[in-house]
Amino acid sequence: MLEKFRNMGRTDRILRFILGWALIFLGLVYTGVVDDVLLNGLIVAFGLMNVISAIVSVCPAYIMAKISTIRQVNTDSGRRLKAPDVDLDPAQLESNKELRRKLQFSIVLPMIALLVVFAFIAHDLDHRAEMMSLTRHVDVSAELAARETLQRKTPGDALEKETRPSPAELTISELLTGARLFVHHDSQGNILSSRFNTSDADEALSRSWSRQLQTLLPADTLSARGMMMFGDEMLIWSSSRVEGTDHWYTGIIDSPTAHSITSYLISPGFLVLICAVSWLAIWSSTYIVGIFVDRMEKNSRQLQYRSLHDALTGLPNRQNVNAIIQRRLNDLKDESECVVLVMIDIIDFRVINETLGYALGDQLLSQIADCLRKVEPETTDVVRMGGDIFCLVGVVDQNRVNASRLANQAHDTLECAHELNGIPVGLQIRTGLSLGPADASRPEDLVRFADIALAQAKSKRVKDCFYQQDQDSHSIRKLALLARLRTAIEQNELTLVYQPKVDIASNTLAGVEVLVRWYDDEYGQVSPAEFVSWAEKSGLIDKLTQWVLINAEKQCREWRDRGIVIPFAINLSPTNLFDKKLIPLVTQLVNEGSFGDGMLELEITENAVMEDPERAVQAMRVLAALGVKFAIDDFGTGLSSFSYLRTLPVSNLKIDRAFIVDTDNSDKDAVLLRSMIKLGHGLGCVVTAEGVEDEEALERLRHYHCDHVQGYHICRPVPADKLVLWLQSCNWPACERAA
Ligand code: C2E
Ligand code: MG
Ligand code: MG
Repeated sequence: MLEKFRNMGRTDRILRFILGWALIFLGLVYTGVVDDVLLNGLIVAFGLMNVISAIVSVCPAYIMAKISTIRQVNTDSGRRLKAPDVDLDPAQLESNKELRRKLQFSIVLPMIALLVVFAFIAHDLDHRAEMMSLTRHVDVSAELAARETLQRKTPGDALEKETRPSPAELTISELLTGARLFVHHDSQGNILSSRFNTSDADEALSRSWSRQLQTLLPADTLSARGMMMFGDEMLIWSSSRVEGTDHWYTGIIDSPTAHSITSYLISPGFLVLICAVSWLAIWSSTYIVGIFVDRMEKNSRQLQYRSLHDALTGLPNRQNVNAIIQRRLNDLKDESECVVLVMIDIIDFRVINETLGYALGDQLLSQIADCLRKVEPETTDVVRMGGDIFCLVGVVDQNRVNASRLANQAHDTLECAHELNGIPVGLQIRTGLSLGPADASRPEDLVRFADIALAQAKSKRVKDCFYQQDQDSHSIRKLALLARLRTAIEQNELTLVYQPKVDIASNTLAGVEVLVRWYDDEYGQVSPAEFVSWAEKSGLIDKLTQWVLINAEKQCREWRDRGIVIPFAINLSPTNLFDKKLIPLVTQLVNEGSFGDGMLELEITENAVMEDPERAVQAMRVLAALGVKFAIDDFGTGLSSFSYLRTLPVSNLKIDRAFIVDTDNSDKDAVLLRSMIKLGHGLGCVVTAEGVEDEEALERLRHYHCDHVQGYHICRPVPADKLVLWLQSCNWPACERAA
């Protein structure tokens, strides 16, 4: 029954046992430490308590303080279980132990120091008291001498007074009991009266005194004091003379040298006191410190729990994921097993928050967490990485199919109707997977790889994606280049190339499309298809477009000044139409620069318009009023709405390369191409075909009555000087005319 209360370690028990018996001996057998029977009884009781504690291995003070001196920290783990599901890290526990020790010392040591100071004070007081009583002995000689002087001066029977002691004198003689010797003598050492001789008056001492007194008592003094050696004893003497006579009263007492502090400190009484106080100090400090550290540990457990768990779902959070992965990696049985990380992103969760509000959004996240908890709960941990990103950390057989199965379970459990306050909400997720230790053995790398795989899944719009090493180098390159893009724009490191568009019917140069180029010293040529999309995501696109517009206008002016008049087509990104600086800049370039007279065409994609049709149409109308033309770029690949096409101020439809390249493969492609050309014409637009790579394509487009063509077959995008050379050398008669 006592088993569960056991809290004393082996050393603790042995010490208590020995000390307990020692106390019993002191209080019961020796009894000389303290005079008091009650105190001795208490010492015995205390000793007995310790012996019993040591035998049953249970210390009631430890129970109160919730501590234990048993090494395997049984009670510690017991308390840990009570704590909210999290173990304090070993460093923290170690530092708490250290703190516990320091605090205990800081209580016990001052208590012992206080006790020693108290002993000094007590000893000093005691010493003073003893000195006072000694002084009383010594002063008796002066008192008696003074009385006799007085008696001799007053009339009366002196002899009678001398022989019959007065009651006061009897009292005085009682005081002399503590003196070694008290004599009434003359300056030669002859005893004048023996009535003051103390009971322990020492013949040898009396003789010794008589021998020394002639040198010690000067003839003309009334009193003298001093120390004398008697054998190896140190004594104090005090003599007083009766005025006008040769009568001396002398008292000799022991010197209080025996009453030293050292002897006091090593006296058994004091040592027992020290032990009792130290014991009390240790126990009380253990109790106080125990409560303090215990509470502190509880708080740090709660803090640690909060810092490692998500408050909304109760799932472990990003700070915890590395430890979870590491634990799973350590628990792998053999090489047939692996740890899989499934990084999950909820598509368009932002829309749910915006539409239903954050409260319902939070509710949905909790539901998602509950669903994920049910995915292979034995072998899988669920982590909320933040926002709408969750992560499954599972153990599967070393096989991608099994890893995919885990991802599929996540898809199955989440991609169903969830109900929020009676509103059914459908979810779609994308997942990125990494495998440990196949992809990496460090948890942080596995997390990064799963993130990269997730980004791939999102950009490729596929359900899930496994991590592949080349994606990583791509990401590092992307990050590095993204950091340099801003400086590249600011420091004019970008260049422009121009790709001609020709009018098939008239064989004239219809214009050039301006395309941006970036050559990075470390990474070489970077494709605009890459960096334009990064610029769009990072918000740099407005600066980039402004740079292109300004520099293209400069080139247009330079050519115009040389007599080469060519319309320019410049690409706009979807968000450019909503840039506040775009309209003022284009207005300036049109009014004051070379982009007037319909020389500027802006190419926008269908998606750019569809993002916010109202605002897009408004901006396009303002620019169209300046004489700026608009072309729909990559027509056929976006999500255009024909009703908007009708309302847009567009004068050019650029059919995407995909429809030109593939047309010879199937009749359906040909039908599509012809329909698109007809549609463009129907809307009153000029139709341009992109990506014309050979003569056959050109002939086919001519046959379909396409207006303009652009592609490698005519000319690749080239720098300005090369374009002039091309103009001079090409076999497009109209171009020669333009040059
Ligand atoms: P885009 O506007 O559709 O530009 C046409 C792309 O097709 C250019 O690629 C061009 O080099 C390529 N091309 C032209 N003829 C052929 C051909 O016969 N065969 C093939 N296979 N390709 C051909 P580029 O220069 O790599 O540009 C890619 C995309 O980057 C552009 O597509 C455009 O969306 C964007 N971009 C380029 N420059 C700029 C710019 O200054 N601003 C903005 N916002 N986007 C730009
Ligand atoms: Mg374009
Ligand atoms: Mg295009």
